[in-house]
Amino acid sequence: MRIDIITIFPEMFEGPFSESIIKRAQNKGLVEIHLHQLRDYTTDKHRKTDDYAFSGGAGMVMMIEPIARCIDALTAERKYDELIYMSPDGDLFDQKMANSYSLKGNLMILCGHYKGIDERIREHLITKEISIGNYVLSGGELAAAVFVDSVVRLIPGVLGDETSALSDSFQNDLISPPVYTRPRAFRGWEVPDILLSGNEKLINDWKLEQSLKRTAERKPGLLKEDNDRKD
Ligand code: SAH
Repeated sequence: MRIDIITIFPEMFEGPFSESIIKRAQNKGLVEIHLHQLRDYTTDKHRKTDDYAFSGGAGMVMMIEPIARCIDALTAERKYDELIYMSPDGDLFDQKMANSYSLKGNLMILCGHYKGIDERIREHLITKEISIGNYVLSGGELAAAVFVDSVVRLIPGVLGDETSALSDSFQNDLISPPVYTRPRAFRGWEVPDILLSGNEKLINDWKLEQSLKRTAERKPGLLKEDNDRKD
């Protein structure tokens, strides 16, 4: 997979993309992430990417020309499955979307700032708008990093057996069961006996039971969705 990110703050991605699983995925050649400084696509000497909103009002708006120039340059090189704009009013991102994006070839992600981007970019150039939650960030970079992290870890071959995504929360519309490691007792807080029983069948039954219980308590909407689909 190849991911191209258009941003005025490429340095914001240095931390998230140079550690842990995302770093390993790039080193293994399973994903290529390219950052594009939007200011490189300006033509004025101040490298301006924003301007006042027509009709006035508070806040600046990201201009159409540098963004269109950057998108044109990238699409001239290859075909993209989606041109994504990170936006608080976009489709609410979830694990199902992460799974489906993890199977794509080329993705382009545009990060907005200030009051957002000129609406005509959204109307004519963007193919998908994604929100990571119902709150407003100051820029699309953190949202894009969240999106990329959750998608890249699902690319086949990125996670080893030890961290398999299949047993993670949401993958089967269930929340993960609780997990424990050594020591067996700490301040009198014991690990459930069944996990030490060595009986694989009993352990799996317990895990499923815990998953169902937790899902009902914490994310009842997941069980409901499941029922709706079966109806
Ligand atoms: N005025 C806009 C908010 C702009 S926030 C509004 O009221 O809808 C500035 C930029 O941050 C946006 O262009 C977008 O790229 C990004 N952003 C903010 N919140 C986000 C969220 N919840 N999900 C994804 N991107 C977000």
